[in-house]
Amino acid sequence: MVWPISGGAAADIISSPFGPRWQASRGHYEYHAGIDIPALQDTPAHVVADGVVYKVGWLSVDSGLAVIVYHAALGYYTAYLHLNSALVAKDQALTQGQVIGLVGDSGTTDLMHLHFEIRLTSSDYPACTRNPMGYLRRPEASVPAIQITELQARPPYSMTVSVVITASRQELDVNQVCMTVQDRMTGAIVDDQMIDLNRRFAHGLRSARPGWHPADPFPL
Ligand SMILES: [Zn+2]
Repeated sequence: MVWPISGGAAADIISSPFGPRWQASRGHYEYHAGIDIPALQDTPAHVVADGVVYKVGWLSVDSGLAVIVYHAALGYYTAYLHLNSALVAKDQALTQGQVIGLVGDSGTTDLMHLHFEIRLTSSDYPACTRNPMGYLRRPEASVPAIQITELQARPPYSMTVSVVITASRQELDVNQVCMTVQDRMTGAIVDDQMIDLNRRFAHGLRSARPGWHPADPFPL
């Protein structure tokens, strides 16, 4: 997959990563189903892989003008939102890197940017979406720095571990958190847990919007 925006040194900056985000104006967490890549108006947006145009138009008042592409070889869809104009038509065959539209700020947004999504299916939105950073080939390779900043182990069994991960851009680089507790004497695994940060219901209580139901539409 190629990066969906070209041109300019700032082309790889992400202004809003995938996952839960605090919406101060609304007073609660919301789920961001894609990544936001800021760009000047009419910056070309590129299809990330070969595919066929599945849909062109407004998906909702929030989405603005959007293009959705189906990638048969990959088995999933990519979506490009808030466009100023679309340069492709439904059922059109696309080759990787082809310009599908121009960046804008249509729909609900206060920033000129491309909202890019990976959708595993065409329905069940936004539960079908996945973190694009797990799929995209980044414009620059970077290894995150990991640092344990705090370790509290209070007797008898209460423990808190704080970890800070430093990445080159504002993105949710962490996809999973795994924790294993071993018996000191025998080495036997006493507890083994994994939290998948890409699963929408595994983010913990703080990310759940009160009264929100999975069938409800979700702000983009
Ligand atoms: Zn967005």
